[in-house]
This record gives sequence, C-alpha cells and structure tokens, in this order.
Amino acid sequence: MTQSIERPTVAAQTFSALKCRECGETYDLGAKHVCEDVCFGPLEVAYDYDAIRQRVSRSTIQAGPLSIWRYKDFLPVSSDNPIDVGTGMTPLVRANRLARRLGLKELYIKNDAVNMPTLSFKDRVVSVALTRARELGFTTVSCASTGNLANSTAAIAAHAGLDCCVFIPSDLEAGKVLGTLVYGPTVMAVHGNYDQVNRLCSEVANTYGWGFVNINLRPYYSEGSKTLGFEVAEQLGWRLPDHIVAPLASGSLFTKIYKGFQEFTKVGLVDAKDVRFSGAQAEGCSPIAQAFKEGRDFVTPVKPNTIAKSIAIGNPADGIYALDIARKTNGNIESVTDAEVVDGMKLLAETEGIFTETAGGTTIAVLKKLAEAGKIDPDECTVAYITGNGLKTQEAVQGYIGEPLAIEPKLDSFERALERARTLDRLEWQQVLV
Ligand SMILES: *Cc1c(COP(=O)(O)O)cnc(C)c1O
Ligand SMILES: [Zn+2]
Repeated sequence: MTQSIERPTVAAQTFSALKCRECGETYDLGAKHVCEDVCFGPLEVAYDYDAIRQRVSRSTIQAGPLSIWRYKDFLPVSSDNPIDVGTGMTPLVRANRLARRLGLKELYIKNDAVNMPTLSFKDRVVSVALTRARELGFTTVSCASTGNLANSTAAIAAHAGLDCCVFIPSDLEAGKVLGTLVYGPTVMAVHGNYDQVNRLCSEVANTYGWGFVNINLRPYYSEGSKTLGFEVAEQLGWRLPDHIVAPLASGSLFTKIYKGFQEFTKVGLVDAKDVRFSGAQAEGCSPIAQAFKEGRDFVTPVKPNTIAKSIAIGNPADGIYALDIARKTNGNIESVTDAEVVDGMKLLAETEGIFTETAGGTTIAVLKKLAEAGKIDPDECTVAYITGNGLKTQEAVQGYIGEPLAIEPKLDSFERALERARTLDRLEWQQVLV
C-alpha cells in the first residue's frame, strides 16, 4: 500500500474580493460588474499577492500546462479543473522581415491568430469567464459580441456543456457568423451596432439569470487578457519588452496587458521596466485615439463606420483607463484608414506569413505609422499583438489581392501563364518605379 503524504494546506484561492476601480469599495466574489452601492465605477478582481509570491516561481509556471492555466494563480478561478481547450501559449514570432521594412531592429509578433479553439485572443477571456460562470452555478451563458467573442463563447460553452445564447450586430462578416452557428448556440442578430447590442444585453442580464461573459462576469472575463502580458514576458526569457502595440476596442485588453506586466514585476518574476504602451484604432471608430490627440481625459462616443468590425466599439468601457496608460508610459494612440488596414493585413502576410483579420491589419498599420513618425525607437524591443485570424474577414481583402492563373493541364499552357506572370510582375514593378 502506498503511504499517503500529508500536504500542507494552502489557501484554496489567491483572489479575495471584487474591488471598485474608482472608490475602492469591495464586494463579494459574485456575478457583478459595477459599484452599485457607491459610485457605479467598474469592479475589478483583487488578489493576495503575498500568497501568489509564496506559491509561484518561474519553475512552477514552466512545469504547468502549455495553456493559459500555467498562470492559474493569477486568474480568478478556484476549481482544480478549469475549462481547458488549449487556449494560450501562442507563438511569439521574431519578425525580422517586417522589422527591416519598418526600420526597426527587434520586433516580435504575438500571434493570437492561431489561438485555440477559435483563432482569436477572445478564447483567453472566455476560458476564464466560463470557468468562473460554472463555479458560480450558471447553466446558461451569453455575450454581446463584435464577432470573435460570439465564436469563443459558443465554442467553449459547447465543450463545457453549457447552454448558450449570443447577441451580435446583424451586419457581421460571414465567417464570424458561420463560426458561431456551427457550435449550435442560439444566435440573436440585432439590427443595430455593437453599442446598441450591448445596451440590450445589459437589460437582458438584469432580467434573466444568465452569465454574460462581458457584462455581469466582466471582472473575471477581463482578467483572461493578462495572460497576453504573462506569455510575452515568459517567451522573451522572463523580461519585459520596451514597447507594445495593441488594438483597442473597449480598451480592456490594453489595460490588462499592463496589469499582467505589473503583476509579474510585483511578485518578482521579472525585473521592473518602463514599458511604453501604444494603442491602435481604425479611423471609422477611433474615440480613444481622438481623445488622445486632443489631450482630453474623457472619451466622446462615436458611431462606428469601419471594416475593422471586431474592434468597432463606439462607447468604450475602458477607454479612459487605456488613455491614462498610453500617456503615463509615454506611448501613443493612433488611428488608420480602412485602406491602411487592408495594406497592414497584406504587409504582415507578405513579410511574415501571418494572415490576420482587420483588427491585426489595424495594429500593423499603426505600428508602421508610429515607426515612420519616429515614435518607436529602432532599438526598442517592440511587440505587436495580433489578435485575430484573417480567414474570418475574407471580405476585407477580396479584390485587393492577386488571382490564380487558370491553366490547362499541359506544359505549354503552364509556360505561357508563367511568361504572363513575369510580364505582369515587371509591369507592376515599373509602375512602382514611375
Ligand atoms: C475584442 C477584440 C479586441 C479588443 O478588445 P477589447 O474590448 O479592447 O478588450 C482586439 N482584437 C480582436 C480581434 C478582438 O476580437
Ligand atoms: Zn465605487
């Protein structure tokens, strides 16, 4: 018979309360997202960092699963068996060819275009939110989505056996709609933009006992984005970069990468460093970039009109916090036109072999704009966050890329086509020179 070993008892969880970002009021760890007793500010998860410090080291993390759950002690879940669909630990790619094009020396792409299971960074936040939803006893989960969140919520709910009803604006890309329906949830396509969808969902959340990942579960959901900070620090060899560029929709992801770097520093996993934070928006929905340019500390809502639908939030919940981070870290928030978004998608594909969606095109276009304006130092170790996959927004590049050459299954047909391809190439080349 094997001898049973007495294990020292450790606290079951490292998170202790929900806390108001504005006034500091604390709440119990339920499904709640606003400071309803005092100031209506947003609630955030508070942790016991001494407990985390005692429990976690580089080697305990390295011994963990190859997913976001290697950072479980920094996440607001208490179960030993979180929903694990392989989310996280996506590649950090050294992007030398893109760097050369932009005049930079040390550039990396954090590639969440290949995140699991639905090819966007949203799988991170949903894995955390649905694990917490299950702990809180929810059996039906929901979300207000710009597309990727609906994909993730539907897929991960299917895996976990939770009932699912998602809300999307009715004008989303075909790939995003199909990539939700296939998992068999109820899909409500709302005639209206994301901000109207979100308002409707707030009402539904108040009347139905459902767990909305980005409404009443938002404090837990948003913590999942910290793993994009943790992974980059670990993949760089336990150091922080000098500068990051990330897309802004509600602004949550941006603020949580910051929180992730801060936490790793606080518990001694990396040395402190002043990382510069730069944000990317599409001009047709750029309320945070406009506030940044005009030196305002408030965000004026706008009506979105851009092909970058996944980041088209006209009234961004975390806009003011993203502004604050960009300013205090000496970063920037820039916007680019839809034409530049498409060019950004093509540039990343042609230089690095990564096909991203419009949000990633926005990030690359802003990276280029900042580099050309001298707002990124060539010597800075820079990380650009690519958050979604190009196969989901094929409409965006249709008509802006080449076409296959149709040939007969004969050698001479191939040779004529090859000659034509060479001529086309040369003509294009001459046009560029003119
Ligand atoms: C949701 C989303 C973002 C940004 O989300 P935040 O609301 O700012 O956290 C960025 N890229 C893609 C592809 C997204 O789907
Ligand atoms: Zn408050």
